[in-house]
Amino acid sequence: MNSTLISKVEKARRYAEEPDRARFNNFEVTFNGGHDEHRVTMQDTEFRCTCHFYEVHDTCAHIMAMQRILQPMLSEEQRTVGAPVSLVSS
Ligand SMILES: [Zn+2]
Repeated sequence: MNSTLISKVEKARRYAEEPDRARFNNFEVTFNGGHDEHRVTMQDTEFRCTCHFYEVHDTCAHIMAMQRILQPMLSEEQRTVGAPVSLVSS
């Protein structure tokens, strides 16, 4: 491996410890909810889930879990949309 590529690998290693350098614009995941799998998607600041709770409440445990998992890689609005700030940040 040449020295240029080695330096890029080292830089990638440092970057990987600073996840807030990268921000999601959109994603789609299959979420294992224990009994069923649900599809959680995000486009800009809009989250959606295929579970029944989401249909009624516009948010759900799967969305809130993804907001926690990806917290450093989401914008302030993406982190808090759909749920009270106190629930998202605590
Ligand atoms: Zn859900």
